[in-house]
Amino acid sequence: MIDVAIVGSGPAGCTLAALLALRGIRCLVFDDDKRPELLVGESLLPRVVSLMRRLGIEDRAKAFSQHKPGVGFIARDGSRLDFFFPPTPVKGVPNYAYNVPRPQYDNLLRARAEELGVTFVKSRAQLEPGTDGREIQLAEASLATVPELQGRHPKLLVDSTGRARVFAKVIGLGAQRGKRNDVAYFAHFEDFDVEAKREGQAVITTLSRGWSWRIPLPGRLSVGVVVDKSAAKEHGETAEERLESIIDSEKFLGPAGKGRRRVSPVMTYTNYQLISERGHGPGWVAAGDAFGFVDPMLSPGLFMAMHSADLIDQHAFSKGAAILDQPERLARAFDKVFAELIDWHEAWSELIEYFYDGRMFALHSAGEQLSQKYGESAFPRIMERHLTTQITRLLSGVATRSRYGRRLLKFSLKHLVWDVDPAENFAIRA
Ligand SMILES: Cc1cc2nc3c(=O)[nH]c(=O)nc-3n(C[C@H](O)[C@H](O)[C@H](O)COP(=O)(O)OP(=O)(O)OC[C@H]3O[C@@H](n4cnc5c(N)ncnc54)[C@H](O)[C@@H]3O)c2cc1C
Repeated sequence: MIDVAIVGSGPAGCTLAALLALRGIRCLVFDDDKRPELLVGESLLPRVVSLMRRLGIEDRAKAFSQHKPGVGFIARDGSRLDFFFPPTPVKGVPNYAYNVPRPQYDNLLRARAEELGVTFVKSRAQLEPGTDGREIQLAEASLATVPELQGRHPKLLVDSTGRARVFAKVIGLGAQRGKRNDVAYFAHFEDFDVEAKREGQAVITTLSRGWSWRIPLPGRLSVGVVVDKSAAKEHGETAEERLESIIDSEKFLGPAGKGRRRVSPVMTYTNYQLISERGHGPGWVAAGDAFGFVDPMLSPGLFMAMHSADLIDQHAFSKGAAILDQPERLARAFDKVFAELIDWHEAWSELIEYFYDGRMFALHSAGEQLSQKYGESAFPRIMERHLTTQITRLLSGVATRSRYGRRLLKFSLKHLVWDVDPAENFAIRA
């Protein structure tokens, strides 16, 4: 009999399915089989590589991915902030990441779960408010059409439907939304200069309004622009017109993409931030974007999706499936998962805000001036190097929640920025 039914076969759902299967817990995944030609979520963090290794898929992922050594940021005035993962692994986390073609990556996660014995059902799960102590349950239509369920409700349902947040909608669960309300257009190009300092580096560029990503993939470049919805309308009617017009009108992107050739359709995503009122209830738990998602500028999405699955697995199932028959113990384990996840969300949001409000660039500018004034080996330069190491650890997911790193950065942003352009000059404008 199936113990756990997972709804949604993105990175969160497939990771959880594979981890539970490794523990011998019987689970099934509802997969609505939606795999568009392109999906956002192509630039990964080093901590995702740790999870790939646990699942035993790194070599296969490497075969279709681009090695990513770090990330660079280009400010409105052309100044650059380049972060590279450290020369050696920190706390066992690899010192590199990958940029991945998402549909292929998702297929690999799914294939791995299948190898481990997970059943995938090609169908959209139908859900309804629960009975008999369950807050939500599979509707008869889904129960009856999946022979593996034998007409019985699984002990646990998992919402990994991403931003569709299917469970929250069925049970009327609220959420807190962030202040931004952007739209993103993206496509794959050839002959588009990435302006990377090292091969594979992802590059984020401040636009006159909004920001853009350039993510190198094998043989092509993923280019996306993230702009306020009202700004997008000034660039044409269709997604294609808007993406091309925004690229052409930008001081840095325009010249970099002068000889470009678009080799994919243009995809549109709304971009906002959201966190659910809660992530579990009687008989269900949420993983990945279904619980909450942060702004994608620093690429935390797939890490958060896969790590949330890892937290559910470790906090609730480290001693096997018996906990599924102990609702109070299960609820306590899930409380721990979401306390950690909320802290992750806060840490990412705090860090991302420093890039949006321009303070990170102002700090960098102050650091440059200090090194010019006092020389390479003077104390301020040593301090700056230490700070850069800490910021890289925050950005890579290795120590994003570290109290020390966060306090040091906060202190530096407040006290070490003087004699430079005000942060507003570097801010991302809506
Ligand atoms: C503009 C933008 C750029 C981004 N860039 C990055 C990046 O560079 N790096 C990064 O790491 N992240 C990035 N992200 C975030 C990343 O895409 C998500 O965080 C990630 O996909 C979340 O994974 P998930 O498994 O939770 O959800 P999803 O990947 O959304 O998967 C959910 C799955 O559930 C399926 N589903 C929905 N309803 C049902 C149903 N009723 N029955 C069955 N199946 C169902 C869906 O079709 C989908 O396959 C970006 C996001 C945006 C908006």
